[in-house]
Amino acid sequence: MSIYSSLNSISEELNKCMKCGNCQAVCPIYKETRKEVGSARGKITLIETLLSGELEMTEGLADRLSLCTTCMACTANCSCGVRFDKIILAARAEAVRQEGLHPIKKIAFTALKMNRLFDLGMKFGSAFQGLAMKRIKGSDKGARLRFDFGLGNKVLPNLARKPLKDELPEVITVKNPKMRVAFYIGCVTNYFYTDMGRAVVEVLTENGCEVIVPKDQGCCGTPASVNGDVKSAQASARLNLLAFEKTGADAIVSNCSSCGESWKHVFPQLFDDDPEMKALADKWAAKTYDISEFLIHKVPFKREGLGRVERKVTYHDPCHLNRGQGINQEPREILKAIPGVELIEMKEPGRCCGMAGSFMLVHPDLSAQISDKKIADIAQTHTDTVVTGCPACRLQLASGVENAGLQEDVVHTIQLLAESYKVGKKSISAAAR
Ligand code: SF4
Ligand code: SF4
Repeated sequence: MSIYSSLNSISEELNKCMKCGNCQAVCPIYKETRKEVGSARGKITLIETLLSGELEMTEGLADRLSLCTTCMACTANCSCGVRFDKIILAARAEAVRQEGLHPIKKIAFTALKMNRLFDLGMKFGSAFQGLAMKRIKGSDKGARLRFDFGLGNKVLPNLARKPLKDELPEVITVKNPKMRVAFYIGCVTNYFYTDMGRAVVEVLTENGCEVIVPKDQGCCGTPASVNGDVKSAQASARLNLLAFEKTGADAIVSNCSSCGESWKHVFPQLFDDDPEMKALADKWAAKTYDISEFLIHKVPFKREGLGRVERKVTYHDPCHLNRGQGINQEPREILKAIPGVELIEMKEPGRCCGMAGSFMLVHPDLSAQISDKKIADIAQTHTDTVVTGCPACRLQLASGVENAGLQEDVVHTIQLLAESYKVGKKSISAAAR
């Protein structure tokens, strides 16, 4: 039974909980609020009373269920093996079944699954972003909102003039390709951090891979699935699965931790009750790789030709890459291979940054408080660059760094590797002159 179709599907997980409360110690929400409902145990108790019929689903209860960044720290540290990641998704789906979706979320998720309409909206937004956002002077670090939208002093990245999907050709060929790789771009890279996406293509082609960019790909549906809008999440998953099936690619590569997690784990779960789509989702789940995982395990990246990149860096582990996909050593291995890069670990690199997609919009103050802890850990490293493996984490960290007055660049691992290849090529051509 799918966790998205009935709350009964998670009874077994609920029964495993011994109410020891150990999850409090790792929960970013509990650490800030000191309220039992912030922790996994608190929410598990609420969900149990819901299942037993002692409590009814109300708007207030649904609000309490929104107090979770889905960081999976409780799941990873629970000695009873309670899969709270599944429990929270099932409970939020139940909340939507019973209480409906907030009208703003309904509009947002409907737009996200209507690929062309969303694309048009983002292009319009790009053209007129100056009306709502003011660029930060003298930097390309983003912009602040001109009006109070309830997001505090959040720094947001500028919308790209052209989405990356429109900028890239459908197929980027190389001589004698080792593999044909389909690039799943994801919304934040497509509309905001196009530099990150270009770096993915540069590194893949540098390493002998043909890159396919399916033009009909769309949002992976994470905002909808984590908010309980199962129908919209299924629509997004179906659209992407059919688009990538047409490519006949050997693998899918993603540079976003939540998109990768969706392809690997969420899409198959969304179709637990639909054998045909489930088979397709399982097939592509097995062929999906995070870019760092791909470059270490699938097509090992070339180490010859790497140029010096003089940077002191610290690495933030995105929750859905680290705990969701078990990938934490691969990005570090890449960073350590780049000549000139010095990696200095921060305290608790796996602690959630507080972004969690729509969590930042629904609970901006709490999100900022969680971010402040992360930024303080970064400041302690005295580095000049924060590296991460997720565009959404980059957005949150860049905002925190700017607001704290730190002079750090915030980039994706793949951008440093791309930079290193470029420097390597320049020094070869300079030597040949
Ligand atoms: S979820 Fe795990 S860690 Fe938390 S109270 Fe239950 S058993 Fe203990
Ligand atoms: S997933 Fe993270 S935020 Fe949610 S209850 Fe568990 S530790 Fe707390």
